[in-house]
Amino acid sequence: MIVTIPAPVGLDDKSGSREGGARDPSVVAREDVAPADPNPDRAIRCRRCDQAVGSHAQVFAFRAARAVQVFPNPSGQMMKILTIRATHHLTAVSVPTTAFTWFDGYAWTVMVCARCGLHLGWQYDVVGTGTPGRFYGLRVDSISE
Ligand SMILES: [Zn+2]
Repeated sequence: MIVTIPAPVGLDDKSGSREGGARDPSVVAREDVAPADPNPDRAIRCRRCDQAVGSHAQVFAFRAARAVQVFPNPSGQMMKILTIRATHHLTAVSVPTTAFTWFDGYAWTVMVCARCGLHLGWQYDVVGTGTPGRFYGLRVDSISE
């Protein structure tokens, strides 16, 4: 079961400008609603070693109104993730699987910081066809913005 819990107000201030905006319920993939960032080239960094691993320009909301979403892992731990189209300096440390995936139709792979090994999140690869073909979910508690 996939449970999406809306982020508390103020948690993701970057998406605040979208609150209350008109929404088209026929659009399932909300890839077009990534909120404007006043400094889109600002780096997203590994919280442990400060390695830049992504850019705010790549952050997007996937199947949700916000780019930050919360999901339970199989052991019941709530994981807060930021969806982003591209990353760098990440290393895959598992094989892709769809088991317990948070995004139906996508297989996940555990990704760690290539510099220090901190678990930064997951890579998601579409199974079959879909858009985007790949994206990432970064653990909010493992990154600094
Ligand atoms: Zn690191």
